Amino acid sequence: MTNDKNVISPFLGEHDHSHCETQALESAIAKCAKQGLRLTKIRQQVLEIIWAQHNPIGAYDVLQKLQEAGHKPAPPTAYRALEFLVSAKLIHRVESLNAYIGCPSPNANHQCQFYICSECGHVAEVNNAAVSEALVAGASELGFISHQPVIEVHGICKNCRV
Ligand SMILES: [Zn+2]
Ligand SMILES: [Zn+2]
Ligand SMILES: [Zn+2]
Repeated sequence: MTNDKNVISPFLGEHDHSHCETQALESAIAKCAKQGLRLTKIRQQVLEIIWAQHNPIGAYDVLQKLQEAGHKPAPPTAYRALEFLVSAKLIHRVESLNAYIGCPSPNANHQCQFYICSECGHVAEVNNAAVSEALVAGASELGFISHQPVIEVHGICKNCRV
């Protein structure tokens, strides 16, 4: 199990977000180089659009932002870029919102649980192995094989509670 040293918390409140964006891009470039993945221009542009905020963004909005920025990729190109970023674990799909969020710790073990603030919309990613193990144990008691347990917890973050 590996953990990034500088995990970006989405519940930072007021902060220098350009730092989050720079760090995310640097980790993505490093990860792709290490794993022999190609971070093409369109893939990087999509990653930057997703990291422009800590709120999940839908595929259609990603496409619109690409167009606003003067790029005119065919929709399948943009969607394939999203698929690449998901499979490279640089972004995640938040199923309950049908949207994408940047991964703050792309080198983590990725047994993801997501905490979603219903006020500000920020999503925090936690990789708690104990939670995943409990799910696997529960599944095996049922004779059930879980492919990808999705845990998305909706609630209120500490910034929105005050
Ligand atoms: Zn930020
Ligand atoms: Zn992640
Ligand atoms: Zn919040």
